[in-house]
Amino acid sequence: MGAKFFSITFYVMAVVAQVGVTAYALNLFFRSKQYRLASGLLALSFGLMIGRRVAPIVLFYTEGHYNLFDAFLALTISLLMFFGAVQLKKIITDLEIKNFMLDRSSKTDSLTQALSRSETFARAELEIERSLRTQDPLSFLMLDIDLFKNINDRYGHPLGDVVLVNLVKHCQEELRVIDIFGRVGGEEFFVVLPGNSMNQAAEVAERLRKRVASLPCAVVDGKEVFITISIGVACFSSQSQGETKAPQVLRVFYARADEAMYQAKSNGRNRTELWTQ
Ligand code: GH3
Ligand code: MG
Ligand code: MG
Repeated sequence: MGAKFFSITFYVMAVVAQVGVTAYALNLFFRSKQYRLASGLLALSFGLMIGRRVAPIVLFYTEGHYNLFDAFLALTISLLMFFGAVQLKKIITDLEIKNFMLDRSSKTDSLTQALSRSETFARAELEIERSLRTQDPLSFLMLDIDLFKNINDRYGHPLGDVVLVNLVKHCQEELRVIDIFGRVGGEEFFVVLPGNSMNQAAEVAERLRKRVASLPCAVVDGKEVFITISIGVACFSSQSQGETKAPQVLRVFYARADEAMYQAKSNGRNRTELWTQ
């Protein structure tokens, strides 16, 4: 009687554990894109094994057959599978979180949350490719803080960092969501304005410049700290340009926006200059 009772109890518990492990694998299958094939195969094999766990129960009720050792093994194996699946799901979840954070940290600058240099260039190239297809104009701005070294020298680097963070905020508030705003140097920022002609880009640049000049970027001992920026503008139009390769176009227009920005510096700073031949 004891062996019979334990056999059927173990078999039933094995079915429950087997259903549990299958549910875990199915959950992974639906949730994780990256591990879909592996978790799908596991869910299928775990699911099929439910049949193997139910078969002895059917045999017990139809023929009165039972085997305590086999029932014990079935339960142990299914429980081990269950705990293994729980661990696997934990590992995969951790991995996905780490992947997500790694992906985000490679795409954004950790101080200002502007796009990173590499992400800025990657997105700029995509916009250039789109512009080559649609023939829409595409404008580029190079922004550089005026005499930023003085801010650091006067108030210290930590406050300089606060200034950088607030400058990015002020600029992002002025831009559209489709615009690309990235930190490409210590205090240099590159902006891509999809669909904007030279005139439109010049207007955006002036709005940015005036906004930055009029809003405080930090407060020291109750005193507001203001900065100014110099901006260079260059506009790409696929109709008037010979270049057809995005990386080449980016190289040329990055240099042109930079050149115009240096022109703004030598013309007195806190101004916008347009690149012209
Ligand atoms: P200009 O108007 O000619 O651009 O003058 P500038 O002083 O801004 O130019 P310069 O290139 O001489 O100095 C840039 C300064 O930016 C020097 C560097 O210490 C500072 N800087 C670069 N990255 C960071 C940063 O992440 N945090 C802080 N606080 N300062 C930075
Ligand atoms: Mg600079
Ligand atoms: Mg500067």
